Amino acid sequence: MSEIENVVIIGSGPAGWTSAIYAARADLNPLCVIGVPKSTPSIVLPGGQLMLTTEVENYPGFPEGITGPELMAGFQKQAERFGTRILTQDVVSCDFSKQPFALTTSGGETIFTKTVIIATGATANWLGLENEMRLAMGGGGVSACAVCDGALPVYRDQPVAVVGGGDSALEEASYLTKFASEVFIIHRRDEFRASKVMQKRIFDSSKATPVWNKTVLDVLGEDSITGILLKDTETGEESTLEVKGMFVAIGHTPATTFLDGSGIELDDKGYIALHTRSSATNIKGVFAAGDVADSHYRQAISAAGMGCIAALDAESYLVE
Ligand code: NAP
Repeated sequence: MSEIENVVIIGSGPAGWTSAIYAARADLNPLCVIGVPKSTPSIVLPGGQLMLTTEVENYPGFPEGITGPELMAGFQKQAERFGTRILTQDVVSCDFSKQPFALTTSGGETIFTKTVIIATGATANWLGLENEMRLAMGGGGVSACAVCDGALPVYRDQPVAVVGGGDSALEEASYLTKFASEVFIIHRRDEFRASKVMQKRIFDSSKATPVWNKTVLDVLGEDSITGILLKDTETGEESTLEVKGMFVAIGHTPATTFLDGSGIELDDKGYIALHTRSSATNIKGVFAAGDVADSHYRQAISAAGMGCIAALDAESYLVE
């Protein structure tokens, strides 16, 4: 590591790698702190959420689609080609009170830097049920990632449930129809939030069944899930649905814990608050890009665009 870095990028999804490509090509010699690989998909992973995605069909330039991990490998290769340096650690705390900024890593190192680009993304939310985590650990049949776990033999030709009504839920449900005998989509309302194209895919599938106006009260089963306990949001009636898997897809939470006490302003949803038409945070020299600062669009391509903006903003700041 250099004594004082020009720019440190925290995170390695589309936003992180794109800012690395731009910063490296601007001769800023960026350091990208990519995170430590983890075994649970509920925590931020190196490469970000696309590492948990099979087919990406809406990233321009890949008319036949590309898998998430392949796309991220390409991003990384391109960033490295221009000299991006990589550190496989997590940033655990930040001191933005004075220049140079100080970042402490999980390996106990302190990195000093003139600018920081935060691109740590977001992680999956859970329902918070009594037996959810117990059955999520050790392969009990509860998961927040169908793409990671859905093809396991335990779910083959078995009924499974997906919870949620957004694009993620319907994408996961659609993926699961390849393996499961039936996919129930448990939603707390009577219409999906997901895009029309995703809804059509589900309504056209003979294996997917929406279950409207239901919340999940708990997951049943000792070592593995045998069913889920549901409550009707209109009648209050409780019922049991027998399934061998439950996939939770109810949105994400931005990865900002390491910013506690750093003075970085968050918006009312807990995402990093940005100044209009820029990647600037409330602290000069600290920029943010991608899902950690975007509760609305949250697409790979919009995150990559934000990564580009953050690198250009960091470059202008350094020039000034
Ligand atoms: P989302 O759009 O926020 O949807 C979350 C869903 O979970 C909603 O239907 C919500 O219900 C439900 N939900 C939230 N909390 C719940 C709880 N405690 N209990 C039960 N249900 C709960 O999140 P997302 O689906 O992860 O999508 C996030 C963003 O990424 C969106 O902008 C989406 O378009 C995008 N995305 C795009 C693609 C793609 O284009 N291929 C794929 C995935 C995601 P309500 O509807 O009642 O609020």
